[in-house]
Amino acid sequence: MANLTAEDVKAEVKAWLEENWDPERNVAEWWDILARSGYAAPTFPEECWGKGWTRDLAMAVNETLAEHGAIGPPAGLGYLLAAPTIVAHGNERQKQEDLLRILNGQDAWCQLFSEPGAGSDLASLSTRAVKDGDEWIITGQKVWTSTAQLTNLGMLLARTDPSLPKHKGITYFKFNMTQPGVEVRPLKEMTGRALFNEVFIDAARVHDDDIIGGVNNGWAAANTTLMAERAGLGTGGTGAAGNAFPGPRAGQLGDRVGDYVGKIRTGGTGGGGLFAAPRLIKLAQELGRDDDPNVRQKLAKLYTLQQLGRFSALRAKTPSQRTGAEPNIAKLMMSDLLRLQREVGNEIIGANGMIMGTEGPGSGVVQEVTLFSPGPSIYGGTDQVQRNIIGERVLGLPKEPGPAKDTPFSELLISR
Ligand SMILES: Cc1cc2nc3c(=O)[nH]c(=O)nc-3n(C[C@H](O)[C@H](O)[C@H](O)COP(=O)(O)OP(=O)(O)OC[C@H]3O[C@@H](n4cnc5c(N)ncnc54)[C@H](O)[C@@H]3O)c2cc1C
Repeated sequence: MANLTAEDVKAEVKAWLEENWDPERNVAEWWDILARSGYAAPTFPEECWGKGWTRDLAMAVNETLAEHGAIGPPAGLGYLLAAPTIVAHGNERQKQEDLLRILNGQDAWCQLFSEPGAGSDLASLSTRAVKDGDEWIITGQKVWTSTAQLTNLGMLLARTDPSLPKHKGITYFKFNMTQPGVEVRPLKEMTGRALFNEVFIDAARVHDDDIIGGVNNGWAAANTTLMAERAGLGTGGTGAAGNAFPGPRAGQLGDRVGDYVGKIRTGGTGGGGLFAAPRLIKLAQELGRDDDPNVRQKLAKLYTLQQLGRFSALRAKTPSQRTGAEPNIAKLMMSDLLRLQREVGNEIIGANGMIMGTEGPGSGVVQEVTLFSPGPSIYGGTDQVQRNIIGERVLGLPKEPGPAKDTPFSELLISR
Protein backbone atom coordinates (compact mmCIF):
# COMPACT_ATOMS: atom_id res chain seq x y z
CA MET A 1 0.00 0.00 0.00
CA ALA A 2 2.75 2.45 0.97
CA ASN A 3 4.33 2.24 -2.48
CA LEU A 4 1.15 1.91 -4.52
CA THR A 5 1.31 4.20 -7.57
CA ALA A 6 -1.42 5.60 -9.81
CA GLU A 7 -0.22 3.17 -12.50
CA ASP A 8 -0.67 0.19 -10.12
CA VAL A 9 -4.18 1.40 -9.30
CA LYS A 10 -5.09 1.84 -12.94
CA ALA A 11 -3.95 -1.68 -13.78
CA GLU A 12 -5.84 -3.12 -10.80
CA VAL A 13 -9.08 -1.26 -11.60
CA LYS A 14 -8.83 -2.07 -15.31
CA ALA A 15 -8.60 -5.80 -14.55
CA TRP A 16 -11.49 -5.49 -12.11
CA LEU A 17 -13.65 -3.64 -14.66
CA GLU A 18 -13.00 -6.28 -17.30
CA GLU A 19 -14.52 -8.80 -14.87
CA ASN A 20 -17.34 -6.66 -13.48
CA TRP A 21 -18.51 -3.84 -15.78
CA ASP A 22 -21.53 -4.91 -17.78
CA PRO A 23 -23.65 -2.19 -19.40
CA GLU A 24 -26.63 -4.60 -19.42
CA ARG A 25 -26.92 -4.63 -15.60
CA ASN A 26 -29.31 -2.16 -14.02
CA VAL A 27 -28.01 0.97 -12.25
CA ALA A 28 -28.69 -0.40 -8.73
CA GLU A 29 -26.82 -3.66 -9.40
CA TRP A 30 -23.79 -1.87 -10.82
CA TRP A 31 -23.62 0.64 -7.96
CA ASP A 32 -23.86 -2.15 -5.39
CA ILE A 33 -20.94 -4.02 -6.98
CA LEU A 34 -18.94 -0.77 -7.22
CA ALA A 35 -19.68 0.19 -3.58
CA ARG A 36 -18.72 -3.22 -2.18
CA SER A 37 -15.48 -3.25 -4.19
CA GLY A 38 -14.16 -0.14 -2.39
CA TYR A 39 -13.75 1.73 -5.71
CA ALA A 40 -16.86 3.92 -5.19
CA ALA A 41 -15.12 5.90 -2.43
CA PRO A 42 -11.44 4.87 -2.45
CA THR A 43 -10.37 7.66 -0.03
CA PHE A 44 -12.60 6.29 2.75
CA PRO A 45 -11.04 3.87 5.25
CA GLU A 46 -11.44 0.16 4.51
CA GLU A 47 -13.95 -0.23 7.38
CA CYS A 48 -16.07 2.46 5.66
CA TRP A 49 -16.37 0.75 2.26
CA GLY A 50 -13.21 2.44 0.94
CA LYS A 51 -9.57 1.59 0.29
CA GLY A 52 -7.84 4.14 2.50
CA TRP A 53 -6.19 5.65 -0.61
CA THR A 54 -5.03 9.23 -1.26
CA ARG A 55 -7.01 11.51 -3.55
CA ASP A 56 -4.42 11.03 -6.30
CA LEU A 57 -5.09 7.31 -6.30
CA ALA A 58 -8.84 7.93 -6.17
CA MET A 59 -8.48 10.13 -9.27
CA ALA A 60 -6.69 7.26 -10.98
CA VAL A 61 -9.75 5.09 -10.22
CA ASN A 62 -12.05 7.70 -11.79
CA GLU A 63 -9.84 8.03 -14.85
CA THR A 64 -9.89 4.27 -15.32
CA LEU A 65 -13.69 4.19 -15.01
CA ALA A 66 -13.85 6.91 -17.68
CA GLU A 67 -11.39 5.13 -20.00
CA HIS A 68 -13.33 1.90 -19.67
CA GLY A 69 -16.65 3.64 -20.38
CA ALA A 70 -18.09 2.73 -16.96
CA ILE A 71 -20.35 4.99 -14.92
CA GLY A 72 -19.12 6.34 -11.58
CA PRO A 73 -20.68 6.35 -8.11
CA PRO A 74 -24.07 8.06 -7.51
CA ALA A 75 -24.40 11.78 -8.23
CA GLY A 76 -25.88 14.13 -5.63
CA LEU A 77 -25.29 15.39 -2.12
CA GLY A 78 -25.45 12.03 -0.34
CA TYR A 79 -22.19 10.94 -1.93
CA LEU A 80 -20.58 14.39 -1.87
CA LEU A 81 -21.60 15.55 1.64
CA ALA A 82 -23.46 13.01 3.82
CA ALA A 83 -20.99 10.17 3.17
CA PRO A 84 -17.82 11.96 4.40
CA THR A 85 -19.81 13.30 7.37
CA ILE A 86 -20.85 9.78 8.38
CA VAL A 87 -17.26 8.57 7.95
CA ALA A 88 -16.05 11.30 10.34
CA HIS A 89 -18.92 11.38 12.88
CA GLY A 90 -21.17 8.37 12.35
CA ASN A 91 -21.54 5.36 14.67
CA GLU A 92 -20.86 1.78 13.59
CA ARG A 93 -24.41 1.11 12.38
CA GLN A 94 -24.44 4.31 10.35
CA LYS A 95 -21.09 3.44 8.77
CA GLN A 96 -22.17 -0.09 7.92
CA GLU A 97 -25.75 0.56 6.78
CA ASP A 98 -26.46 4.22 5.99
CA LEU A 99 -23.12 4.77 4.29
CA LEU A 100 -23.49 1.70 2.10
CA ARG A 101 -26.97 2.86 1.04
CA ILE A 102 -25.42 6.16 -0.11
CA LEU A 103 -22.56 4.52 -1.99
CA ASN A 104 -24.80 1.98 -3.71
CA GLY A 105 -27.41 4.61 -4.56
CA GLN A 106 -30.31 3.15 -2.59
CA ASP A 107 -30.83 6.51 -0.82
CA ALA A 108 -30.64 10.09 -2.08
CA TRP A 109 -29.95 12.90 0.40
CA CYS A 110 -30.53 16.65 0.35
CA GLN A 111 -28.96 19.26 2.65
CA LEU A 112 -31.44 20.85 5.10
CA PHE A 113 -29.14 23.56 6.50
CA SER A 114 -30.15 27.07 5.30
CA GLU A 115 -33.22 28.83 6.68
CA PRO A 116 -34.87 32.16 5.84
CA GLY A 117 -33.03 33.73 8.82
CA ALA A 118 -29.89 31.59 8.81
CA GLY A 119 -27.63 31.41 5.73
CA SER A 120 -24.18 32.88 6.20
CA ASP A 121 -24.79 32.85 9.94
CA LEU A 122 -25.91 29.24 9.85
CA ALA A 123 -25.56 28.75 13.61
CA SER A 124 -28.55 31.09 14.06
CA LEU A 125 -30.90 28.41 12.73
CA SER A 126 -34.20 28.09 14.55
CA THR A 127 -35.77 24.83 13.32
CA ARG A 128 -36.60 23.08 16.61
CA ALA A 129 -36.17 19.44 17.66
CA VAL A 130 -38.03 18.56 20.86
CA LYS A 131 -37.43 15.23 22.62
CA ASP A 132 -40.39 12.84 22.79
CA GLY A 133 -39.40 9.43 24.23
CA ASP A 134 -36.76 7.96 21.94
CA GLU A 135 -37.81 10.29 19.12
CA TRP A 136 -37.54 14.01 18.32
CA ILE A 137 -40.35 16.19 16.97
CA ILE A 138 -39.09 18.62 14.31
CA THR A 139 -40.75 21.93 13.39
CA GLY A 140 -39.36 24.70 11.21
CA GLN A 141 -38.58 25.92 7.69
CA LYS A 142 -35.61 25.31 5.42
CA VAL A 143 -34.86 27.09 2.15
CA TRP A 144 -32.66 26.75 -0.96
CA THR A 145 -32.76 22.98 -0.50
CA SER A 146 -31.27 21.61 -3.74
CA THR A 147 -32.88 18.42 -5.10
CA ALA A 148 -35.29 18.12 -2.11
CA GLN A 149 -38.01 16.97 -4.51
CA LEU A 150 -35.83 14.05 -5.69
CA THR A 151 -34.54 12.81 -2.35
CA ASN A 152 -35.84 10.49 0.35
CA LEU A 153 -33.43 11.63 3.11
CA GLY A 154 -32.01 14.91 4.37
CA MET A 155 -29.03 16.11 6.43
CA LEU A 156 -31.06 18.13 8.91
CA LEU A 157 -29.65 20.66 11.37
CA ALA A 158 -32.06 21.51 14.19
CA ARG A 159 -31.82 23.29 17.55
CA THR A 160 -32.07 20.80 20.38
CA ASP A 161 -31.11 23.10 23.29
CA PRO A 162 -31.80 26.86 23.04
CA SER A 163 -30.33 27.40 26.52
CA LEU A 164 -26.85 26.67 25.11
CA PRO A 165 -24.78 29.14 23.02
CA LYS A 166 -25.85 29.13 19.38
CA HIS A 167 -23.09 26.85 18.07
CA LYS A 168 -23.55 24.35 20.88
CA GLY A 169 -27.26 23.49 20.99
CA ILE A 170 -27.53 22.13 17.43
CA THR A 171 -27.94 18.45 16.45
CA TYR A 172 -27.37 16.79 13.05
CA PHE A 173 -30.08 14.28 12.03
CA LYS A 174 -30.69 11.85 9.20
CA PHE A 175 -34.20 12.98 8.27
CA ASN A 176 -36.92 11.08 6.38
CA MET A 177 -38.20 13.40 3.63
CA THR A 178 -41.14 11.14 2.72
CA GLN A 179 -42.99 11.26 6.08
CA PRO A 180 -46.15 13.24 6.96
CA GLY A 181 -45.41 16.82 8.03
CA VAL A 182 -42.83 17.48 5.27
CA GLU A 183 -43.87 19.78 2.42
CA VAL A 184 -41.48 20.59 -0.43
CA ARG A 185 -42.24 23.67 -2.56
CA PRO A 186 -40.05 24.29 -5.65
CA LEU A 187 -38.38 27.70 -6.18
CA LYS A 188 -37.96 28.63 -9.84
CA GLU A 189 -34.55 30.07 -10.77
CA MET A 190 -33.53 32.29 -13.67
CA THR A 191 -32.19 29.18 -15.44
CA GLY A 192 -35.88 28.28 -15.89
CA ARG A 193 -35.50 25.20 -13.67
CA ALA A 194 -36.35 24.63 -10.03
CA LEU A 195 -33.13 23.15 -8.68
CA PHE A 196 -33.89 24.22 -5.16
CA ASN A 197 -36.92 24.33 -2.87
CA GLU A 198 -38.47 25.56 0.32
CA VAL A 199 -39.08 22.76 2.83
CA PHE A 200 -41.75 23.21 5.51
CA ILE A 201 -41.52 20.82 8.45
CA ASP A 202 -44.47 20.50 10.81
CA ALA A 203 -44.14 18.03 13.71
CA ALA A 204 -42.15 15.51 11.67
CA ARG A 205 -40.21 12.83 13.57
CA VAL A 206 -36.67 11.48 13.82
CA HIS A 207 -35.46 8.56 15.93
CA ASP A 208 -32.49 8.82 18.32
CA ASP A 209 -30.66 6.27 16.15
CA ASP A 210 -30.56 8.83 13.35
CA ILE A 211 -28.51 11.44 15.20
CA ILE A 212 -25.13 11.84 13.52
CA GLY A 213 -22.29 12.87 15.83
CA GLY A 214 -24.21 13.11 19.13
CA VAL A 215 -26.86 15.39 20.69
CA ASN A 216 -25.85 19.09 20.66
CA ASN A 217 -22.69 18.24 18.70
CA GLY A 218 -24.18 19.05 15.31
CA TRP A 219 -21.94 22.02 14.60
CA ALA A 220 -18.83 19.83 14.37
CA ALA A 221 -20.61 17.44 11.97
CA ALA A 222 -22.01 20.39 9.97
CA ASN A 223 -18.50 21.76 9.52
CA THR A 224 -17.34 18.45 8.06
CA THR A 225 -20.23 18.66 5.58
CA LEU A 226 -19.38 22.26 4.68
CA MET A 227 -15.67 21.53 4.22
CA ALA A 228 -16.56 18.60 1.95
CA GLU A 229 -18.86 20.93 0.00
CA ARG A 230 -16.19 23.59 -0.46
CA ALA A 231 -13.49 21.10 -1.42
CA GLY A 232 -15.92 19.36 -3.80
CA LEU A 233 -16.67 22.63 -5.55
CA GLY A 234 -12.99 23.22 -6.25
CA THR A 235 -11.16 22.17 -9.35
CA GLY A 236 -8.99 19.12 -9.85
CA GLY A 237 -11.42 16.23 -10.21
CA THR A 238 -11.94 14.02 -13.19
CA GLY A 239 -15.27 12.36 -13.86
CA ALA A 240 -16.09 8.79 -14.81
CA ALA A 241 -17.80 8.08 -18.14
CA GLY A 242 -21.18 9.20 -16.78
CA ASN A 243 -23.40 8.99 -13.74
CA ALA A 244 -27.01 8.77 -12.63
CA PHE A 245 -29.13 10.14 -9.79
CA PRO A 246 -29.65 7.82 -6.81
CA GLY A 247 -32.59 6.96 -4.59
CA PRO A 248 -36.13 5.66 -4.98
CA ARG A 249 -37.66 8.97 -6.12
CA ALA A 250 -35.53 9.71 -9.19
CA GLY A 251 -36.60 6.40 -10.75
CA GLN A 252 -33.22 5.54 -12.33
CA LEU A 253 -32.19 2.51 -10.23
CA GLY A 254 -33.92 -0.04 -12.47
CA ASP A 255 -32.63 1.46 -15.75
CA ARG A 256 -29.96 -0.17 -17.91
CA VAL A 257 -26.67 1.24 -16.61
CA GLY A 258 -25.13 1.47 -20.09
CA ASP A 259 -27.74 4.09 -20.97
CA TYR A 260 -26.08 6.52 -18.54
CA VAL A 261 -22.69 6.45 -20.26
CA GLY A 262 -22.03 9.98 -21.50
CA LYS A 263 -24.57 11.52 -19.14
CA ILE A 264 -22.78 13.75 -16.67
CA ARG A 265 -24.71 15.54 -13.96
CA THR A 266 -22.71 18.60 -13.03
CA GLY A 267 -24.66 19.19 -9.81
CA GLY A 268 -25.54 22.58 -11.21
CA THR A 269 -22.08 24.00 -11.71
CA GLY A 270 -23.01 24.46 -15.34
CA GLY A 271 -20.19 22.70 -17.09
CA GLY A 272 -17.22 23.71 -14.93
CA GLY A 273 -14.31 21.38 -14.26
CA LEU A 274 -11.22 20.76 -16.28
CA PHE A 275 -13.10 20.40 -19.56
CA ALA A 276 -14.24 24.04 -19.71
CA ALA A 277 -11.15 25.56 -21.37
CA PRO A 278 -10.77 22.86 -24.08
CA ARG A 279 -14.50 23.06 -24.82
CA LEU A 280 -14.43 26.84 -25.20
CA ILE A 281 -11.27 26.70 -27.33
CA LYS A 282 -13.06 24.27 -29.66
CA LEU A 283 -16.08 26.57 -29.79
CA ALA A 284 -13.85 29.58 -30.64
CA GLN A 285 -12.24 27.55 -33.45
CA GLU A 286 -15.62 26.48 -34.84
CA LEU A 287 -16.88 30.07 -34.91
CA GLY A 288 -13.62 31.53 -36.25
CA ARG A 289 -13.11 33.54 -33.06
CA ASP A 290 -9.78 31.94 -32.13
CA ASP A 291 -7.72 34.68 -33.78
CA ASP A 292 -9.29 37.47 -31.70
CA PRO A 293 -6.55 38.62 -29.27
CA ASN A 294 -9.07 39.34 -26.49
CA VAL A 295 -10.59 35.90 -26.74
CA ARG A 296 -7.16 34.25 -26.88
CA GLN A 297 -5.99 36.20 -23.83
CA LYS A 298 -9.04 35.18 -21.79
CA LEU A 299 -8.87 31.55 -22.88
CA ALA A 300 -5.23 31.46 -21.80
CA LYS A 301 -6.23 32.97 -18.44
CA LEU A 302 -9.02 30.43 -18.02
CA TYR A 303 -6.69 27.53 -18.78
CA THR A 304 -4.04 28.91 -16.41
CA LEU A 305 -6.55 29.37 -13.58
CA GLN A 306 -7.84 25.85 -14.04
CA GLN A 307 -4.34 24.43 -13.86
CA LEU A 308 -3.57 26.54 -10.77
CA GLY A 309 -6.73 25.14 -9.19
CA ARG A 310 -5.58 21.64 -9.99
CA PHE A 311 -2.12 22.26 -8.53
CA SER A 312 -3.64 23.82 -5.38
CA ALA A 313 -5.80 20.72 -4.97
CA LEU A 314 -2.71 18.52 -5.34
CA ARG A 315 -0.74 20.64 -2.86
CA ALA A 316 -3.61 20.36 -0.37
CA LYS A 317 -2.98 16.61 -0.30
CA THR A 318 0.56 17.10 1.03
CA PRO A 319 0.29 17.49 4.82
CA SER A 320 3.48 19.61 5.14
CA GLN A 321 2.12 22.13 2.60
CA ARG A 322 -1.39 22.46 4.06
CA THR A 323 -2.54 25.79 5.52
CA GLY A 324 -6.08 24.72 6.43
CA ALA A 325 -7.59 27.18 3.98
CA GLU A 326 -7.52 24.88 0.93
CA PRO A 327 -11.26 24.09 0.80
CA ASN A 328 -12.07 27.81 1.14
CA ILE A 329 -9.57 28.75 -1.57
CA ALA A 330 -10.86 25.96 -3.83
CA LYS A 331 -14.35 27.35 -3.45
CA LEU A 332 -13.24 30.92 -4.25
CA MET A 333 -11.40 29.67 -7.34
CA MET A 334 -14.52 27.86 -8.55
CA SER A 335 -16.52 31.11 -8.33
CA ASP A 336 -13.80 32.96 -10.32
CA LEU A 337 -13.61 30.22 -12.91
CA LEU A 338 -17.34 30.24 -13.54
CA ARG A 339 -17.35 34.04 -13.95
CA LEU A 340 -14.42 33.89 -16.37
CA GLN A 341 -16.09 31.10 -18.37
CA ARG A 342 -19.21 33.25 -18.59
CA GLU A 343 -17.19 36.25 -19.82
CA VAL A 344 -15.10 34.50 -22.45
CA GLY A 345 -17.97 32.22 -23.53
CA ASN A 346 -20.18 35.21 -24.31
CA GLU A 347 -17.34 36.99 -26.06
CA ILE A 348 -17.03 33.94 -28.33
CA ILE A 349 -20.71 33.44 -29.15
CA GLY A 350 -21.68 37.15 -29.18
CA ALA A 351 -25.37 37.91 -29.77
CA ASN A 352 -26.17 34.17 -29.81
CA GLY A 353 -25.83 34.38 -26.04
CA MET A 354 -29.34 35.82 -25.95
CA ILE A 355 -30.87 32.67 -27.43
CA MET A 356 -31.78 29.87 -25.05
CA GLY A 357 -31.94 26.19 -25.99
CA THR A 358 -29.49 23.65 -27.33
CA GLU A 359 -29.74 24.57 -31.03
CA GLY A 360 -27.27 27.46 -31.25
CA PRO A 361 -23.45 27.53 -31.11
CA GLY A 362 -22.02 25.53 -28.21
CA SER A 363 -25.36 23.74 -27.66
CA GLY A 364 -26.50 26.22 -25.02
CA VAL A 365 -23.63 25.54 -22.60
CA VAL A 366 -22.52 29.19 -22.52
CA GLN A 367 -26.08 30.39 -21.78
CA GLU A 368 -26.33 27.75 -19.07
CA VAL A 369 -23.06 28.85 -17.46
CA THR A 370 -24.12 32.51 -17.74
CA LEU A 371 -27.40 32.00 -15.91
CA PHE A 372 -25.95 29.70 -13.29
CA SER A 373 -22.70 31.65 -12.69
CA PRO A 374 -23.91 33.63 -9.63
CA GLY A 375 -24.70 30.34 -7.83
CA PRO A 376 -21.26 29.03 -6.83
CA SER A 377 -20.30 32.32 -5.18
CA ILE A 378 -23.32 31.86 -2.87
CA TYR A 379 -23.75 28.18 -2.03
CA GLY A 380 -21.47 26.32 0.36
CA GLY A 381 -20.99 29.68 2.15
CA THR A 382 -20.68 32.89 0.12
CA ASP A 383 -17.35 34.19 -1.20
CA GLN A 384 -17.37 36.90 1.48
CA VAL A 385 -17.80 34.27 4.17
CA GLN A 386 -14.89 32.23 2.76
CA ARG A 387 -12.69 35.35 2.96
CA ASN A 388 -13.81 35.95 6.55
CA ILE A 389 -12.88 32.37 7.46
CA ILE A 390 -9.45 32.66 5.83
CA GLY A 391 -8.89 36.01 7.58
CA GLU A 392 -9.93 34.85 11.02
CA ARG A 393 -8.92 31.18 11.19
CA VAL A 394 -5.85 31.08 8.96
CA LEU A 395 -4.38 34.59 9.04
CA GLY A 396 -5.34 35.25 12.69
CA LEU A 397 -7.14 38.55 12.04
CA PRO A 398 -9.54 39.82 14.72
CA LYS A 399 -13.05 38.35 14.77
CA GLU A 400 -16.11 40.32 13.69
CA PRO A 401 -17.76 42.13 16.59
CA GLY A 402 -20.86 40.40 17.98
CA PRO A 403 -22.38 39.03 21.18
CA ALA A 404 -20.12 36.96 23.44
CA LYS A 405 -19.74 33.39 22.16
CA ASP A 406 -21.12 31.91 25.37
CA THR A 407 -24.44 33.86 25.22
CA PRO A 408 -27.32 31.32 25.26
CA PHE A 409 -29.18 31.16 21.90
CA SER A 410 -32.46 31.97 23.71
CA GLU A 411 -31.00 35.34 24.83
CA LEU A 412 -29.94 36.44 21.33
CA LEU A 413 -32.16 38.86 19.38
CA ILE A 414 -32.30 36.41 16.42
CA SER A 415 -34.11 33.84 18.56
CA ARG A 416 -37.06 36.18 19.25
C1 LIG B 1 -27.61 27.33 -6.21
C2 LIG B 1 -27.73 27.26 -4.72
C3 LIG B 1 -27.95 26.02 -4.11
C4 LIG B 1 -28.08 25.95 -2.72
N1 LIG B 1 -28.33 24.72 -2.15
C5 LIG B 1 -28.49 24.63 -0.81
C6 LIG B 1 -28.82 23.37 -0.20
O1 LIG B 1 -28.97 22.36 -0.86
N2 LIG B 1 -29.01 23.32 1.13
C7 LIG B 1 -28.85 24.43 1.93
O2 LIG B 1 -29.00 24.28 3.13
N3 LIG B 1 -28.56 25.64 1.38
C8 LIG B 1 -28.38 25.76 0.04
N4 LIG B 1 -28.08 26.99 -0.53
C9 LIG B 1 -28.10 28.16 0.33
C10 LIG B 1 -26.75 28.81 0.57
O3 LIG B 1 -25.96 28.02 1.41
C11 LIG B 1 -27.04 30.19 1.20
O4 LIG B 1 -27.71 30.94 0.20
C12 LIG B 1 -25.78 30.88 1.61
O5 LIG B 1 -25.24 30.27 2.75
C13 LIG B 1 -26.01 32.39 1.90
O6 LIG B 1 -27.05 32.56 2.79
P1 LIG B 1 -28.25 33.61 2.50
O7 LIG B 1 -28.78 33.30 1.13
O8 LIG B 1 -29.17 33.54 3.66
O9 LIG B 1 -27.54 35.04 2.40
P2 LIG B 1 -27.15 36.00 3.62
O10 LIG B 1 -26.44 35.20 4.66
O11 LIG B 1 -28.34 36.76 4.04
O12 LIG B 1 -26.10 36.95 2.93
C14 LIG B 1 -26.47 38.06 2.10
C15 LIG B 1 -25.22 38.79 1.66
O13 LIG B 1 -24.52 39.31 2.81
C16 LIG B 1 -23.17 38.85 2.82
N5 LIG B 1 -22.74 38.57 4.20
C17 LIG B 1 -23.46 37.92 5.15
N6 LIG B 1 -22.74 37.84 6.29
C18 LIG B 1 -21.55 38.44 6.06
C19 LIG B 1 -20.39 38.68 6.84
N7 LIG B 1 -20.32 38.26 8.11
N8 LIG B 1 -19.35 39.32 6.27
C20 LIG B 1 -19.40 39.76 4.96
N9 LIG B 1 -20.50 39.57 4.17
C21 LIG B 1 -21.54 38.92 4.70
C22 LIG B 1 -23.19 37.56 2.01
O14 LIG B 1 -21.90 37.27 1.47
C23 LIG B 1 -24.21 37.88 0.94
O15 LIG B 1 -23.61 38.61 -0.11
C24 LIG B 1 -27.96 27.11 -1.91
C25 LIG B 1 -27.73 28.36 -2.54
C26 LIG B 1 -27.63 28.43 -3.92
C27 LIG B 1 -27.38 29.76 -4.55
